[in-house]
Amino acid sequence: MKKYKVPRGTFDILPEESFKWQYITKTFRQTTQLFNYREIVTPIFENSEIFERSVGDTSDIVEKEMYKFQDKKGRELALRPEGTAPVVRSFVENGLHLKPNSAKLYYLGPMFRYDRPQKGRYRQFYQYGIENIGSENPFIDAEVIAFAFHFLKELGLQNFELQINSIGCENCTKEYDIALKKYFSKHLNELCSDCKTRLEKNPKRVLDCKVKNCKTIAKDAPSMLDYLDEDCKTHFSAIQKYLSEMQIPFVINPKIVRGLDYYAQTAFEIIDTNLGAQNTLIGGGRYSKLVQQLGGANISGIGFAGGFERLLLSLENENIIFGMEQKPEVYFVNLGENTKYESVKIISNLRKNGISCEFNPDKISMNAQMKEANKKGVKFCLILGENELKNNEIILKNMFTSEQQNVKRDKIIEAIITSKKS
Ligand code: AMP
Repeated sequence: MKKYKVPRGTFDILPEESFKWQYITKTFRQTTQLFNYREIVTPIFENSEIFERSVGDTSDIVEKEMYKFQDKKGRELALRPEGTAPVVRSFVENGLHLKPNSAKLYYLGPMFRYDRPQKGRYRQFYQYGIENIGSENPFIDAEVIAFAFHFLKELGLQNFELQINSIGCENCTKEYDIALKKYFSKHLNELCSDCKTRLEKNPKRVLDCKVKNCKTIAKDAPSMLDYLDEDCKTHFSAIQKYLSEMQIPFVINPKIVRGLDYYAQTAFEIIDTNLGAQNTLIGGGRYSKLVQQLGGANISGIGFAGGFERLLLSLENENIIFGMEQKPEVYFVNLGENTKYESVKIISNLRKNGISCEFNPDKISMNAQMKEANKKGVKFCLILGENELKNNEIILKNMFTSEQQNVKRDKIIEAIITSKKS
């Protein structure tokens, strides 16, 4: 028989791993509560134009990595490569700027990019992210960054670094782009072919190139920070002041440009100082034209996204405890045909009372059932045989201490709750 495999660049989250993912999700949702962000869920595919018009057609994501397809009616669709454009599309479509409490949004879910798979880089990967749309106040920038920082701290992560930058607005970019073009033109022959195109269309993206030669050349390129106009300078220093007041450590890294076209002013990344090549845990920034580009008002937003997979690697590297793997509290041992209906009743009653219970109707002998209970690592077994049925009792056995007691059947719940405490 033919054996099947997951598609290249994708993976299964197996039961023995899924509790780690739940730990991240749970901590993320707790953080959203703390900062009062509400969930938004958008489709996994969108009209591809949403990304082409916003993320930008000079970005790698749109140029090379998008999973584009036509549906049966010839509509041009794309599996979403990122979360911001869909959230903004929905924000505009549903007039969320007019609804109360709808400017602070979060999302969780899979994203798709056709990239060369490697450790920490997949074709289907999972992101968590937030967007705060409608204010240009630098306090909001600081708060979005604070959210990311708080979340990682809350997970227990230690070795990460917050890097911030300002990539200016349209105003300052004009001069900066000229300076960059002048600088890189001197090295034109040494740049990779992608960067040659970038230099024409969006010179800042050369700073973001991962090719070694381009990186070396970019080291001495002019810094955006020297080209910021007064407004952008004031905005950037206000963020730094707020972050300092919040006691959030940061470094300024003028090389952060972010790969996507829609960013302006604030750009930030959080990197794991121990991970190798794929070390960006979270990337984010302010976007001033995106809402308008997608048909909305002239308002600005800021957000970030982070990947689950890299975060998981970082957490594992730092030996973080993810909480407990899921297991039942009680294993039910039924000893025969005559007791099976009573067993079903008790099991159902346990669950109604919030006690998780496992029962395997295919295991018949006491031995087999006890063995399975041990394997599952449960603390309690409830054992029902003919004698117990007659006496209106059940045996409650603590599998850790091997102590057991006969309990009246209407006292089972109480007995388990008391024993759980001991
Ligand atoms: P981006 O949307 O490119 O700014 O990426 C934000 C974050 O998503 C990165 O910092 C990574 O943690 C994660 N990420 C991006 N692309 C991938 C990928 N192909 N595989 C796994 N994680 C990714």
